[in-house]
Amino acid sequence: MTHLEPKTFQEEGVRNWPVTLTLGLTFILGVTLVPWYGFTVGFSGWAWAFFGIFMLLTGIGIGSGYHRLWSHRTYVASPALQWFLAIVGGMSLQNSILIWSARHRVHHRDVDDDERDPYSIGRGFWFAHIGWMLKDYKSGEVDYSIVPDLKKNPVVMWQHKHYLELVLATNILLPLGLGFLVGDPIGVFLLAGVFRLVLNHHFTFFINSLAHMWGKQPYTDENSARDNWFLSIFTYGEGYHNFHHLFQNDYRNGVRWFAIDLNKWFIGMAAGMGMATDLRRTPQFKILRARLHMDFKRARERLETDPANPRWKELLDTLETEYAQYLGTIKEWQALQMEKVQQGKQKLADRLDASYRDLERALHLQRKRVAQLVAEAVPA
Ligand SMILES: [Zn+2]
Ligand SMILES: [Zn+2]
Repeated sequence: MTHLEPKTFQEEGVRNWPVTLTLGLTFILGVTLVPWYGFTVGFSGWAWAFFGIFMLLTGIGIGSGYHRLWSHRTYVASPALQWFLAIVGGMSLQNSILIWSARHRVHHRDVDDDERDPYSIGRGFWFAHIGWMLKDYKSGEVDYSIVPDLKKNPVVMWQHKHYLELVLATNILLPLGLGFLVGDPIGVFLLAGVFRLVLNHHFTFFINSLAHMWGKQPYTDENSARDNWFLSIFTYGEGYHNFHHLFQNDYRNGVRWFAIDLNKWFIGMAAGMGMATDLRRTPQFKILRARLHMDFKRARERLETDPANPRWKELLDTLETEYAQYLGTIKEWQALQMEKVQQGKQKLADRLDASYRDLERALHLQRKRVAQLVAEAVPA
């Protein structure tokens, strides 16, 4: 079910008071007490500095840790990196790694299924953003059978067991302690503790709400996820959600080199330091194939609805010829994949690499031709 269809699924939930009060109170303090204190007393430079550092740490804890490491296993992290991510991720008060990842894996498996996806956008912006946490719904029940790997991970299980202590220590003791050291305990607590928590919450929540309704769909329209570079600025790359939903095993969400994806750079940097290995990347051919598939789909829609253009029939024919060629290229690629599996990797590696590159180039050129076709059909 997609969010475009009329809402039919209704479900009564029981109010979750601890979550409602925590999210409600921190939000109210964040938009009232924090600015009031800032205007009347003022924040020290230290308070702003810790605010910036904590924003960065919690964003990376969620993006590089909770999301890309534990939910999707897009790379392997050393124990030191795991401990770091478990602590700064826990600081963001978004539940333990185990629970967060279990729900997130279901979100990917059953995306847009209003009865199963814990934060399905089909149930509206508010529900996908925050409503799903404020009441206990059946769709939000944690299915631990989907995280057998994490149940065996000592860092994850330690964090799950000591989650409450970790949250209190990092959100109250740490900012107050650092604040005392620099002579501004209230300022550091309000900015780096409370205000940072509220911002990190809602920036993350925007991925479940806005990134499923606002933005482009360059890779797939089989689900509601969107690519949104603007959201990626605040979420350190998580806004490239259309790519992510199609290629969830890729450690990058912003796959192009210029895409703003701080988590991708962080993981790359950790790899450079030897703390992250086995970074998984989607083969370039698969990425191009997805983009071209969408290009064809849109070009066809454009041309078919443009019979006023005297050349539309001819353009449509050309498009179909291009499409047949595209399917041919895909077939060649599949044959190469088979060959690779049968022959073993090493023996034919060089020849295969060259063939893969040729096929990638073919798709790349074809994307240009399809774009040109569309441009001819609909003059700017
Ligand atoms: Zn994900
Ligand atoms: Zn999503």
